[in-house]
Amino acid sequence: MKHLLIAGGGIGGMAAALSLLNRGFDVDVYEQAPELKEVGAGVQISPNGTRALHALGVFDELQRLSCNTKSKEVRLWNTGRTWKLFDLGTEAIDRYGFPYVTVYRPDLLQVLADAVRIRKRDAIHLGRRVVGVTQQDSGATLHLDDGASVAGDGVIGADGVHSGIRRALFNGDNARFFGMIAWRGVMPIERVPVQISRDKATNWIGVGGHVVHYPLRAGTLMNFVGIMERSDWRVESWTEQGTAEECHHDHRGWHADVHALIEAAPSLFKWALMGREPMKQWTKGRVTLLGDAAHPTLPMLAQGAVMAIEDAVVLGRCLDKYSDIATAFQRYQDARIDVTARKVLGANDNAIRFHNPALATEAGATIYVDREWSRDAIIRRYEWIFTYAADAVSI
Ligand SMILES: Cc1cc2nc3c(=O)[nH]c(=O)nc-3n(C[C@H](O)[C@H](O)[C@H](O)COP(=O)(O)OP(=O)(O)OC[C@H]3O[C@@H](n4cnc5c(N)ncnc54)[C@H](O)[C@@H]3O)c2cc1C
Repeated sequence: MKHLLIAGGGIGGMAAALSLLNRGFDVDVYEQAPELKEVGAGVQISPNGTRALHALGVFDELQRLSCNTKSKEVRLWNTGRTWKLFDLGTEAIDRYGFPYVTVYRPDLLQVLADAVRIRKRDAIHLGRRVVGVTQQDSGATLHLDDGASVAGDGVIGADGVHSGIRRALFNGDNARFFGMIAWRGVMPIERVPVQISRDKATNWIGVGGHVVHYPLRAGTLMNFVGIMERSDWRVESWTEQGTAEECHHDHRGWHADVHALIEAAPSLFKWALMGREPMKQWTKGRVTLLGDAAHPTLPMLAQGAVMAIEDAVVLGRCLDKYSDIATAFQRYQDARIDVTARKVLGANDNAIRFHNPALATEAGATIYVDREWSRDAIIRRYEWIFTYAADAVSI
């Protein structure tokens, strides 16, 4: 039985482990964190992502914990004017066969990890930091910070945006600060002020920023993300905390409802947005990358986690089809590299689309919303993403 080693036990690493165990491979996951703990944040899973989770066999379990938002609205940053949006999400099951859901990240990770452990009880090794990777003709080896080395038939680097495996394989990082920071917070739904829709996904759009909020965990939590243009914060991290005062200040001039949400968040975190050019290659022999390690992205298309899950499905299929590991890894890269690059570039485009000078006035905003958020424009921007089928795409 072939034995694959995975560096990183986030959403991507765990989805990959599950995909490979489902297909009869032996897998071990090395995660640096001492316990499995995802950041307390929300994640939107578009129909192509729920389709991939279904292919992994965990969608029914996750659906119990997720939210299908009732509808979508756009609001103007300062006046709060509201436009009801055509929502591909509510049509998703009819159009794509799978729903658009929002999920609390810890729930997604837990569902994946539980499924991995059902298939192999001791597959996940916590508190094990990977410090290097080497490969030979017959296999690949992960080196850990306690001096241990583990050998397998191949290595998958799912170690996130700052991937050490990517550095070891391809040297530097072409990160470019995008001049924006993402504020995020999650609050119990009862703390959300009554005038704010609790069952809708809302996109606030402005000249130098945008704000998104949507319910999570069967409607018991609300997720808040505020992406603001700001040039002095350059730390790309899930764990950097900021203060409510700083967050209010970054949203100065925004509608009172936005400030009420900031006030309701028990804690607020900030993440500097770095853009990266898509990689031309992410596989070398018996070592490959997956998820943010392979195609880090701005969050503006809400596809980072979805791409990691799709990668996992396609990688499993390739390893099943091609018995030679290096060939399987290469075919996986070939199948995924163009579609993921298109999404990374689409997210960069959305950063510009969302923060538009036309939004300075209501008249400008009306023209902008009619143009950018019409039914046709939404279908043109998103349908190619939502129709992608990781379980059927040619490999
Ligand atoms: C503000 C924001 C909002 C987002 N919203 C969405 C959304 O709505 N929808 C969506 O699809 N995506 C979204 N994303 C993107 C998504 O969060 C990421 O794309 C996703 O987490 C990538 O998963 P991953 O497993 O590749 O990486 P990660 O989640 O970063 O996991 C990497 C894992 O590797 C471990 N690790 C790192 N180095 C080592 C090492 N040396 N040894 C061992 N372990 C190691 C880490 O501890 C971590 O557990 C958002 C991102 C941001 C910043």
